[in-house]
Amino acid sequence: MKAPVKSSASSSPAPSAPAAKAAGGRREEATALFALLEEHEHEQVSLVYEPSSGYRGIIAIHDTTLGPALGGTRFWNYSNDREALIDCLRLARGMTYKAAVAGLNLGGGKSVIIGDNKIRNREPIFRAHGRHVKALGGRYITAEDVGTSVGDMEFIKAETDHVTGLIGKSGDPSPVTAFGVYRGIKACARHRYGDDALRGKTVAIQGCGHVGYYLADLLYKEGAQLIATDIDAAKVRSVVVDFRAKAVGLDEIYGVEANIFAPCALGGIINDQTIPQLKVEIVAGGANNQLAEERHGDMLEQRGITYAPDYVINAGGLVNVNAELEGWTMERARNKAGEIYDTILMVFDIAAEESMPSYRAADRLAERRIAAIAKVRQNFV
Ligand code: NAD
Repeated sequence: MKAPVKSSASSSPAPSAPAAKAAGGRREEATALFALLEEHEHEQVSLVYEPSSGYRGIIAIHDTTLGPALGGTRFWNYSNDREALIDCLRLARGMTYKAAVAGLNLGGGKSVIIGDNKIRNREPIFRAHGRHVKALGGRYITAEDVGTSVGDMEFIKAETDHVTGLIGKSGDPSPVTAFGVYRGIKACARHRYGDDALRGKTVAIQGCGHVGYYLADLLYKEGAQLIATDIDAAKVRSVVVDFRAKAVGLDEIYGVEANIFAPCALGGIINDQTIPQLKVEIVAGGANNQLAEERHGDMLEQRGITYAPDYVINAGGLVNVNAELEGWTMERARNKAGEIYDTILMVFDIAAEESMPSYRAADRLAERRIAAIAKVRQNFV
């Protein structure tokens, strides 16, 4: 991180030593805040405290070159405010990249509400959050995230129109997400085997929840053989019964003989312990934040494993939200998610041209699109 800039000039009378120390501390803190924004070039951060409800919310807007910043609201009991701010900044930046590679006219933003997300009396908190979102005048649009529900979005809607994921609107995004993941897996097969057919290929699916189940359906229909695991025995059973998958234990999934590993449960599962176990040629699945650390993307590369960067292949969920905003039909949303096929191939092209791992090439693709669109929109019309 860059060192905070210290101000040396002051026109105020000389303060007492403790007061000067306290003011110095506050200044340090303030400049550290701006250093955090500067680190990843965030445009704006807004903080609101509403005392009667106890609402403490942060909205981070990372980049609005492509359009309004979109990102969900996370409700979480952070151990301190700084941790909440850093999480918000990191997630907002991630949304910029995700929207950019998905080809959407959206920027990146995120919000966090600090507190116990099991709280019963939710209306005052989410109405306060709605007013916070409204105050940004459309620069930020929110949606569900960890700790928030469709019902919470309805409370936000009472205060502002800049909210998506409402009851009776785009609904469960996972069928569109799974379709995008399926198309991304096919692109990986084309890159790796010269042919995108999945008939006869074996895919190991970790997590048979929303995305995992719909993905299993699509793969089965194409003739792929499936291996599956889940902590929930009933969910594995449905994939075994419906799509003739072979069930394996939770830790076994990493070492199975398969062509493709599709993580569709947790983040951080590509790590020092799991990479040596992998016998697959491709890692491509719907889970967010699959790499425990960036260096694990390099390790996959060194092992000769083709990796579909998670935020590129799972962008169907964001496409679904965008469809709600733009009033798209389901068919148009699916079509857009299907473009993930070409995007994944573009990522592999950049990786080859610039001799970099695919997770870095994905960032490069996003940055190129943002820079190109900023250029074409620079003239006055
Ligand atoms: P989900 O909760 O419906 O499914 C996750 C499944 O993983 C559950 O069945 C759960 O029991 C299982 N699971 C949890 N821990 C496990 C473990 N240790 N081993 C094996 N299975 C385990 O969630 P989802 O909506 O299907 O999302 C799955 C992943 O995809 C998440 O990482 C999510 O962030 C990401 N994602 C989802 C969408 C979407 O549209 N739902 C969009 C983008 C990204």
